Amino acid sequence: MKNPDIIPFILLAALISLSFEREKAEISGKPLKWEKMPVKYHINKYCYKPIDSEKCMGAVVNSFKTWESPECTSLKFERGEDTGEAKGSFNSLDIKSNRNIVVWYFTDWPYEPNGLALTTVTYDDKTGKIYDADIELNGFNYRFDVVETTPSSYTDIQNTITHEIGHMIGLDHTFEPSSVMYPTARAGEIKKRKLSDDDIKGVCEIYSNDSGCSCSTISY
Ligand SMILES: [Zn+2]
Repeated sequence: MKNPDIIPFILLAALISLSFEREKAEISGKPLKWEKMPVKYHINKYCYKPIDSEKCMGAVVNSFKTWESPECTSLKFERGEDTGEAKGSFNSLDIKSNRNIVVWYFTDWPYEPNGLALTTVTYDDKTGKIYDADIELNGFNYRFDVVETTPSSYTDIQNTITHEIGHMIGLDHTFEPSSVMYPTARAGEIKKRKLSDDDIKGVCEIYSNDSGCSCSTISY
């Protein structure tokens, strides 16, 4: 067989739950979560250079809006001013100085060449509190665009960023095929622009807008 990796992959997929999975802290196992709303983000000022910057920015902004749109969630984003930062980073000596950025690389993509994008989340292992998340995109090996007609050989910006924001807010991959958090995407795919019922369940479990408390009262 040419590709023996396919067999363990299928077995593994069959064993994995088909509903949303939360990203967990490596040592404590605490699920990751932003504690304060809104979560502010900054788009690199060039967005994806080969296309009109407004069109590109619009696709990125729509991706963030998609995750805050379900009625059952309290998740809120705020777009900050565009940034000149050209790569993701985290300064542990000045935590407040960190900004959550969205940035494309055009040369020297430093990660796995086949990877479309990478979201790096920095968190407190004891509590799962997220401090910083940067979304980096592989403009070196892939051609992005706002896909208007399918099939297309371009990678859709909103399709990709919506998936990456799922990681940014604390969701892991799932093998549920309709989910935004399904791990792979073909060129021209646009179905991840929209949240599936499972994605909505996920975002509303982490960031519920239920204003009541899960209160218990005890009298002595
Ligand atoms: Zn992913």
